Amino acid sequence: MTTSNKAIQSHVPGFPRIGAARELKFALEANWRGELPEAELETVGRDLRARHWALQQQAGLDFVTVGDFAFYDQVANHIQLLGCEPARYGFGDGQSQLSRYFTMARGKSGNKAAEPAACGHDHAHDAHGEGNLHASAALEMTKWFDTNYHYLVPEFTPETAFSLACERLFDEVAEAQALGHAVKAVLLGPLSFLWLGKAKADGDFDRLALLDKLLPVYGQVLDRLKTQGVQWVQIDEPILGLDLPAPWRSAFENSYWQLNQVGVPLLLATYFSPLEENLSLACRLPVAGLHVDGVRAPHELTSIADWLPVHKVLSVGIVDGRNIWRTDLDAALATLAPIAEKRGGKLWLSASCSLLHVPFTLAAETALDAEIRSWLSFATEKLDELYVLKQALQGDYDAATAAALEVSRAAIASRRASPRVHQDAVRARIAALPADADRRHSPFAQRQAEQRARFKLPAFPTTTIGSFPQTATIRAARASFKRGELNTADYETKMREEIAYAVRRQEELGLDVLVHGEAERNDMVEYFGEQLAGFVFTQLGWVQSYGSRCVKPPVIYGDVSRPKAMTVDWTVHAQSLTGKPMKGMLTGPITILQWSFVRDDQPRARTALQIALAIRDEVADLEQAGIGIIQIDEPAVREGLPLRRSRWDEYLDWATRAFRVSASAAADGTQIHTHMCYAEFNDILPQIAAMDADVITIETSRSDMELLNGFGQFRYPNEIGPGVYDIHSPRVPGQAEMVRLLQKASAVIPPANLWVNPDCGLKTRGWAETETALRNMVAAARQLRAEH
Ligand code: GLN
Ligand code: ZN
Repeated sequence: MTTSNKAIQSHVPGFPRIGAARELKFALEANWRGELPEAELETVGRDLRARHWALQQQAGLDFVTVGDFAFYDQVANHIQLLGCEPARYGFGDGQSQLSRYFTMARGKSGNKAAEPAACGHDHAHDAHGEGNLHASAALEMTKWFDTNYHYLVPEFTPETAFSLACERLFDEVAEAQALGHAVKAVLLGPLSFLWLGKAKADGDFDRLALLDKLLPVYGQVLDRLKTQGVQWVQIDEPILGLDLPAPWRSAFENSYWQLNQVGVPLLLATYFSPLEENLSLACRLPVAGLHVDGVRAPHELTSIADWLPVHKVLSVGIVDGRNIWRTDLDAALATLAPIAEKRGGKLWLSASCSLLHVPFTLAAETALDAEIRSWLSFATEKLDELYVLKQALQGDYDAATAAALEVSRAAIASRRASPRVHQDAVRARIAALPADADRRHSPFAQRQAEQRARFKLPAFPTTTIGSFPQTATIRAARASFKRGELNTADYETKMREEIAYAVRRQEELGLDVLVHGEAERNDMVEYFGEQLAGFVFTQLGWVQSYGSRCVKPPVIYGDVSRPKAMTVDWTVHAQSLTGKPMKGMLTGPITILQWSFVRDDQPRARTALQIALAIRDEVADLEQAGIGIIQIDEPAVREGLPLRRSRWDEYLDWATRAFRVSASAAADGTQIHTHMCYAEFNDILPQIAAMDADVITIETSRSDMELLNGFGQFRYPNEIGPGVYDIHSPRVPGQAEMVRLLQKASAVIPPANLWVNPDCGLKTRGWAETETALRNMVAAARQLRAEH
């Protein structure tokens, strides 16, 4: 190692803001309840920033990152910074900046906190999305690239104007400087900001047309930061990892030429995806440095190190910002050393992306198995890894760094060899899996005939998606069970009573295919993860999903298998209470994969297949126990799509195969359902059809059945239940409204193939509204039967 490596510096693209103990969440919710004044909320924010900067400095990073903090969402911060709050809110002078901010985030009534997100998983697509833009509606919310973080979508019209309208960023820079930190400010770049927004105008208004108005304001922001003396500005353009239309690509050059004129050093940051055809563009843009994702695109590092002019800084995101595994430091050093050599030491080390997407610290995980814990690295541990990498790359490191390298080496070796990770039986089973393990015995038409003869359901059969209201009683019982106050037998008795209650209600309502109601499940992924081998759960591994909402994804660390049946007892109990068919309820392999931290020592496809085999065993056991209809939920299939279209086919191939493997143990007479929501599916219809579920239920009501047109045009071959009412809203739809939706559906799908059901599970609703809505739904189905 040469001494020129002394030029190596380290930083992170961003740090989690919610706080080690989710302090920000609790402060926000207190403020929204009216219990914490704005000034005190600001103090909580200031304290968190100070703490997080101190951690970065103490860990030996060369800069602290400023501008990654947000009270709700970093994109929303930019809406205020750039002065483009949508005019529809009609904000007056009297309203404080923060209250305008929360109005955009949560809507005017501001009652979102009171309304839990739907769908079992704390996912956000549901909290917003009223669709209609009345003055008080919150901004739409959508997924941040392929993460489970959700940002607020900027709204653009031809009239949108921009101005430097908010001092927050500059105040935060001053705060960090007053604390003695070397500051790297971070901004979302102008092209990504426009791309991530949505045109809210009639006709084909192109939001790229706003660029000329936007760039001068970015210029002013940079000018202010320069005046404040920040060393660097990291300007994020993650859209460089997407398939961009030509005009967007060519807009980069001119934009960055302009912004570079300000004279503050710019670090252009890309992440989440390979640069591919944008690689040479990213390398030649007139900026002082380029950050790339060395975890998602390690194969591009060599060409970037060659293409990027030597006077520019190359920041390599070598530590995984999207996952929780300890970095293999030896492997990282082997990757970095030739790059350092090539760049004459002009190299920065970083996390692949903002650490927003990983939990805060392992220090809090006192209950975690010690060996598994030694394999992990959360945000604060990742800071330490960056320091060790830097020291090691510079050559002359101290005893502490040498020791850290040893510990890391031992942990990597233990993970690689551990019998807890590798189960021969799982491997052998996959190796021996017959090629047709993903095929049902007979084609759909034959299965359909057999199932019709078996279940004798009426036309337009009615069902629900699985969960019934998770009442306060249910949640209290589970909480006291978890605290050890309620013993297993008593807890199970309570849950059996809840199941019996749900079954009784459904019989009274006259539904055709019943469900047990999922009372015993906290979350549709956690419930299965807790019972499968290869999964582990953290105590405080929270990751921000949106606003104050966090999720605690399970960690899949080893080969997955199912030690014993997971749902059979509950389902059989439910079936024993009714003569109607009881639908078994499982979560599918892709959804379990997608909502977990996944191992990085084997392809995702292989982990998916292992989960699929575990679910397959459960299907077989349910069938054995006499359950004739089984639903395998896959709401997350679409969100697993790679950011690059060129990689869609590969993903869809293994993902749909995993689903089929989970379902295909079923005999022809067993009816397999699946359920999907959260998305439009029109661009993956052939693959959804290839999943070959006998029945699919989908979310369609908010689109007024428009989503179904694609299925109709595609001539979707199997049975479909398009959701006839929106479970995200407390509004109870009337019979006529649902009849109208069903008539619309009958015009595009053969009526003999139609089912009648809500959009999604009912766990977040109350019983009273649920019963009224379902009564109307059953009446609507009966009316259709009479008319057809
Ligand atoms: N069966 C689940 C439920 O009803 C499905 C949830 C989902 O689609 N996210 O709650
Ligand atoms: Zn759903």
